[in-house]
Amino acid sequence: MKVTEHITKAKSTLFSMEILPPLKSKGIQSIYDGIDPLMEFKPAFVDVTYHREEYIYKKREGGYLEKIAIRKRPGTVGISAAIMNKYKVDAIPHIICGGFSREETESALIDLHFLGIDNVLALRGDSIKTENTFVPEPNGHAFANDLVKQISNLNQGNYYNEEPNANAATHFCVGVAGYPEKHFEAPNLGIDLEYLKTKINSGAEYIVTQMFFDNSKYIEFVNRCKLMDINVPIIPGLKILTSKKQLTILPKIFHIDIPEDLYKATMACKDDVAVKQVGIEWCTQQSKELIAAKVPCLHFYTMGVSDGTKNVAKECF
Ligand code: FAD
Repeated sequence: MKVTEHITKAKSTLFSMEILPPLKSKGIQSIYDGIDPLMEFKPAFVDVTYHREEYIYKKREGGYLEKIAIRKRPGTVGISAAIMNKYKVDAIPHIICGGFSREETESALIDLHFLGIDNVLALRGDSIKTENTFVPEPNGHAFANDLVKQISNLNQGNYYNEEPNANAATHFCVGVAGYPEKHFEAPNLGIDLEYLKTKINSGAEYIVTQMFFDNSKYIEFVNRCKLMDINVPIIPGLKILTSKKQLTILPKIFHIDIPEDLYKATMACKDDVAVKQVGIEWCTQQSKELIAAKVPCLHFYTMGVSDGTKNVAKECF
């Protein structure tokens, strides 16, 4: 079922989660181990992140450097199918622009359509470690908006390089990313929201936010979206802080603020067991406030670890 249908049918705030594919040496059981404990909360859907390959340079005979692609985690198609079959829950694969040409994107979408997957989250992806800025693949997309357009075209039966309507239309419900604290490359939030709006105008039907630890940032973001006539559901993304290290890592990677109170409470902890407890309590409070504000769904970034989310969900669902 489409995310938008889940939301329309729901009588209260939904529960959903995001998992990341395990490192390639691990099997599917490691995914199930992260999902099983959370199934009692009846997730409306489970997102599966996509991780593009990384590149290393190896010195070869004659001194030249060979660029080698290393795949660390499996892709989303197989994992999404496995989750759907085992739990009878909607799995949402993340599709990114980075590393994909238009043809390769279309192939992945054809596979997902064949498997009966109804939703995708369309993203640009970040630059690879060896590049300062995002570089699209030859004949790939530079922005998520172009990817949304490609999926919308497929939804109208227009496949790349083929006659219009020569094939059956797909029916993907497309979600996109939104940033209550602004995407780090955007010059300001207003411009970022204008680009967010182009993704909605191109056919995206819902937004999932970057994690935030201060609910007022989300509320303000939703209000600004409304002012710009962005009227699709905006699903808040939540993460539980679990270590002191994350106080600096999360702002660095995700370009978000840690509120002063959370920072002080975390710094006062004697170890990371205590930090996790603080993180759970903070996230529980955030969740309760957001449910009271009637958000459509709470989306938990579990990173494949379920116990913290389980503690929060027990208090809220
Ligand atoms: P875009 O919407 O393309 O925006 C990127 C930047 O370009 C923004 O600053 C925007 O303002 C600007 N911009 C947009 N259009 C234009 C234009 N036409 N001209 C100029 N500037 C423009 N990454 C992964 O690799 N795998 C994942 O599974 C994954 N899942 C995610 C899930 C969520 C919910 C979120 C919030 C992020 C996720 N990411 C993932 C990270 C994401 O790929 C990065 O944040 C990336 O840097 C931006 O992706 P985007 O889809 O928001 O890009």
